Amino acid sequence: MDSLAIITSGGDAPGMNAAIRAIVLSCHKKGIECIGFYHGYNGLIDDDYQTLTPDMVRPIMQYGGTILKSARCPQMHTDEGVKSVVKTLQRHNIKALVVIGGDGSFRGMMALQPHWTGRLIGVPATIDNDLACTDSTIGFSTAVNTATQAIDKIRDTANAFERVFIVEVMGRHSGHIAFNVGLATAAESILSFENCPAQDLAQVKQTLIEQIQTKQQNNHSSFVIVLAENLWPGGPQGLQQALHREAHIDSAVCVLGYIQRGGSPSTEDRILATELAMEAVEAAFTESGVMIGKEQGRIKRSCIIGATEQSKPVDQAIHSVYKLLT
Ligand code: ADP
Repeated sequence: MDSLAIITSGGDAPGMNAAIRAIVLSCHKKGIECIGFYHGYNGLIDDDYQTLTPDMVRPIMQYGGTILKSARCPQMHTDEGVKSVVKTLQRHNIKALVVIGGDGSFRGMMALQPHWTGRLIGVPATIDNDLACTDSTIGFSTAVNTATQAIDKIRDTANAFERVFIVEVMGRHSGHIAFNVGLATAAESILSFENCPAQDLAQVKQTLIEQIQTKQQNNHSSFVIVLAENLWPGGPQGLQQALHREAHIDSAVCVLGYIQRGGSPSTEDRILATELAMEAVEAAFTESGVMIGKEQGRIKRSCIIGATEQSKPVDQAIHSVYKLLT
């Protein structure tokens, strides 16, 4: 019997379980053994695994996190680590490895490629949506919904106190979450990498101060700033201090943090995860070095290198709508 291995690696994302479920059920239908290795690449180094059966994965669709656990694996950056993974794959006679994760996890696959003759397939799962060759990654929709609901609640207290709120959202170094959440919550300001280049931050700050002062003079209302993580020097507190120091503007800071990574996956993420995972099993015995994505409603296979190396800019239409409405 052919064997296929799966890992979930790097930052967890809601919908990873839905992807595991679809892979296991799909393998079962095809008569392929499916082995899940625990804790990302660590499980492949430590030979920590479990043969997955349909019964094990039937009740997991609606849960965030991952039943296979996830982790970073520093050894993958060394030759010994990579060779140790290859030994485990060979020992179990694995024909294909499906990696459910983000761009770092896919770089791990690229490190394995020269040393292993089996097939390598990537299923994009990260809340950051920072992988090219797919309109959306698994977990992104849920993270945007979670942050939107949180900011709706913050808006209530911001309105009651006529306050300025700085809300930091995740995204690593891309603004997909910031822009989508900012638009969905009618944020007065979205500050992200795409519209705030590092050399222009002084000007961004000045414009922001003028916007806050104008809005507050005119209608005594709340002012919500959605701030992308890793953008502002000193983080949201750095921006808070700058607003106070330079314009006596008081603001409250709220870092949404890890709530964006957890929770029950949205319907969109469950369906996306299922579709991508089923195609991954189809691809696993004919192709290697591909990532499964979905663009403009169509499931497609793309070269893993392209998906990892290309940047994925925030949709221009979202930029334009934000500019028109603020
Ligand atoms: P994500 O997959 O969410 O982007 P990371 O960037 O933390 O998460 O990567 C997850 C894991 O992938 C790392 O801990 C490491 O084991 C592996 N990895 C990342 N980059 C490389 C690389 N350049 N070479 C080999 N393995 C890598």
